[in-house]
Amino acid sequence: LFSPLYLSKNKYVMHSASPIKILILDDDTFMLKLLTRMLAKQGHTSVIACDNGADALKKIDNADTRPDLILLDLNMPDMDGIEFVRYLVDHQFHGNLILVSGEDERMLKTAEKLVHAHKIEMLGYLHKPVNPEYLSELIKKWKSPSQEDQLQSSKKIYRVDELQSAIAHHELVNYYQPKVSVATGEVIGVETLVRWHHPTDGLISPDRFISIAEENNLINELTTYVLTDALAQAKMWYESGLTLRVAINVSMDNLASLDFQDLVVNLVTQAGLSPQNIVLEVTESQLMGADTRIPLEILTRLRLKRFHLSIDDFGTGHSSMAQLRDIPFDELKIDQGFVHRAWTDTTLRAIYDASLSMAKQLGMMTVAEGVEDQNDWELLRQTGCDLAQGNFVSKPLQAKEFSHWMQAWQDRIHNGLIPGST
Ligand code: C2E
Ligand code: CA
Ligand code: CA
Repeated sequence: LFSPLYLSKNKYVMHSASPIKILILDDDTFMLKLLTRMLAKQGHTSVIACDNGADALKKIDNADTRPDLILLDLNMPDMDGIEFVRYLVDHQFHGNLILVSGEDERMLKTAEKLVHAHKIEMLGYLHKPVNPEYLSELIKKWKSPSQEDQLQSSKKIYRVDELQSAIAHHELVNYYQPKVSVATGEVIGVETLVRWHHPTDGLISPDRFISIAEENNLINELTTYVLTDALAQAKMWYESGLTLRVAINVSMDNLASLDFQDLVVNLVTQAGLSPQNIVLEVTESQLMGADTRIPLEILTRLRLKRFHLSIDDFGTGHSSMAQLRDIPFDELKIDQGFVHRAWTDTTLRAIYDASLSMAKQLGMMTVAEGVEDQNDWELLRQTGCDLAQGNFVSKPLQAKEFSHWMQAWQDRIHNGLIPGST
């Protein structure tokens, strides 16, 4: 049944390049052979191949053969992949999973959700025929138990007084991510993304402290801090001859009191900047209270003063069509979840296209976020999206890195990133 490669199938041949123990479960023995070869080429030699679920479960029960990672075929005649996942839970499997199947994207995604519901860590899924590069990308996501420990400690939850002191001690630092014109490459603006330069824990992402600020009545203080710094930076750029539209993220909790609009207007006036160069990106962080009149009033008045209003994370539960109807947004940001890989995934593509077309019909500027590679970029070009934001263009930068990036960006454009633009 097995080629010579499989003679050692019951014991792991430890290889210094990769300590990770992998089990492949697929009823198709040709597939088993193919994947084992592919893995070996990538330095993974501790591999067991099984052609049925019952055998695989035996390996999982045995401490010597228990894998760190399982490559699981969804479609098998006796015990299918989904059923196998249920057994994995019963057998206390704490490793990771990659689904492999010829099924379409939506089916794989549904299966992925099921696996998540069983609290089993999934690194992702692969389509058959398996692309070796994708396989290698997924396995790179695997973390050894000691890395996992580090990850756990990096999940530390901060107290509100720690955050308060961080604001007081200027440990919060604005990063700026460029938004560029897809048609010309011109740098139109930046989005301000705050980070915490923690004295002992290093760089902390906003996802770990924004909600703490929101829940503890600290969000106005935080937003004021971020806005003040962003305006000072905008002013410096302006004085050096660079007019950039500076966006900041505004949480719905900021919009609970009418004072917010006065605050924004005053800060912008004091900085000597025009509202037309300021964008407020709004996300619905939690269900708005019963009274939506105040946020509505604040946003409408800011728009009347010519501030730009951007609906953030469009397409997710956080922003809805009702908001589009009720609030005079003039920019729509398609959530990164519908942008990256939309060129190859028909479900994402349908949502991306619909968002783009809705924005255009409403006369709004369209921004695609999460543009990660050339393929994503090409889709934006083909579909006429106005602005691009994402790691393909630039990761969020500190202000001091900005001019260096601008130079490199110009070079990329001249070197043919945008055909016909040179
Ligand atoms: P967001 O507004 O949706 O910001 C985009 C996030 O995507 C940023 O994460 C950015 O670093 C990341 N990103 C950019 N390009 C790419 C890419 O190509 N691929 C991928 N996978 N990700 C990319 P970040 O900076 O961690 O911010 C997370 C969220 O924190 C933001 O999401 C925003 O909602 C919130 N946030 C950040 N700064 C502030 C702030 O000053 N105030 C408020 N209220 N929220 C903020
Ligand atoms: Ca945003
Ligand atoms: Ca977003």
